[in-house]
Amino acid sequence: MNRHTERALILQRVPYGETSLVVRLLTQHEGPVRLLARGAHRAKSAFAWTLDLFDELQLTYRARSGDGLGSLEKGTVLRRRPNIPKNLRAYRSALCGLELCDLVARPGENEARLYKILSELLGALDQPEGESLENGLLARFEAQLLEDLGLFPATEGCAECGGKAPAYLKPRDERGPHAPFSAAAGGRLCEACALAAKQAGRKVGTLPHSDLAGLHQALGGEVHRDQELAAAVHAIAARFLDYHLGVLPRTHRQFAPSTAPR
Ligand SMILES: [Zn+2]
Repeated sequence: MNRHTERALILQRVPYGETSLVVRLLTQHEGPVRLLARGAHRAKSAFAWTLDLFDELQLTYRARSGDGLGSLEKGTVLRRRPNIPKNLRAYRSALCGLELCDLVARPGENEARLYKILSELLGALDQPEGESLENGLLARFEAQLLEDLGLFPATEGCAECGGKAPAYLKPRDERGPHAPFSAAAGGRLCEACALAAKQAGRKVGTLPHSDLAGLHQALGGEVHRDQELAAAVHAIAARFLDYHLGVLPRTHRQFAPSTAPR
């Protein structure tokens, strides 16, 4: 087994026996690892009180290849994030971030970028205003995650032909001009490509132009403070992600059954 010292964030904790824990972690440079923390619940353990969800950790461990169970040797807390578990919305949003990272992290790979956006999400959720910004923070996180996975949807031009994809006014819709959108086709579409996609059997819906612009801004780092916009952008990013990952994460079930354009 190789010994590593890595920054890490806990993705999952599972009790093991009476006093031990199995933790699944996202490390900065070695991707996800699974470690046995022997005696973690004993006060005298080398890592008592260090294995809390959301905290920034530095761990020394011996790894096994693949998904094998390594063993934790030493752990210190670099930064505690004590406020997240104290409020339900921040807590749920943080769990959503952990779950998504768990789904996409690649064993043995340098996941510094994924680590960074997860750490930023958790850091922001731990702030006093984190609770009220949860949708905006998740929207930004998911937009960046989509981009890193090479999945970010077309939000301005047409996903199919690369041309302009103008929005048009839908009658009786208060949310302004809409544009055709299809997760299967890669995002926003022009009218001609939307028609072709429908004829090819793909699901095509419409989304407000303002929400798509909001998703684009979230990718640029903006945290939407407008609650309605933040929730809408988060929902688009989440559904698009679920569609392309081919799974429905537990923390995304609020969006199902989906009425999303697909
Ligand atoms: Zn087109």
